[in-house]
Amino acid sequence: MINLKSQITCKICHKVFKKPVDLPCECICCLEHISDITKDFNNNNQMMCPMCKKVSYIPKNGFNEHLLTKRIVETNAYLSQDEKLLKNNFDVTFIEFNELFNELQLKESELEAIQREHFAELQKKLELTRDSLKYKIDKIVVFTL
Ligand SMILES: [Zn+2]
Ligand SMILES: [Zn+2]
Repeated sequence: MINLKSQITCKICHKVFKKPVDLPCECICCLEHISDITKDFNNNNQMMCPMCKKVSYIPKNGFNEHLLTKRIVETNAYLSQDEKLLKNNFDVTFIEFNELFNELQLKESELEAIQREHFAELQKKLELTRDSLKYKIDKIVVFTL
């Protein structure tokens, strides 16, 4: 299985490639390691790959950038940026949602309080009406007796 992370990780510094270059042995490493790799063999224009240990001639025209790997590194950076952005957006939305939800709950409890108040008022009015009706009925009963 091809693992993206291992494809874009330098085997020398174990970080994501910085300017990946092709070695004559077809290994890939960051450009910044080249001077270290070529230093010891420089006299006879040879170098030893620290990864596969192959000895080969240092390319006369310098080292070529490994374009495909470079593209993959760039795409990966781009994608992880998108991922971060998406995550941020989600976090913001979630916070907004929570705020709205809290507001809604507050409104709901306010509404309940108002309802309770109205209900108590209504109940009081009903009781008063009932009392006055009872009083009137009592008077009628007394009158008719
Ligand atoms: Zn490296
Ligand atoms: Zn090699």
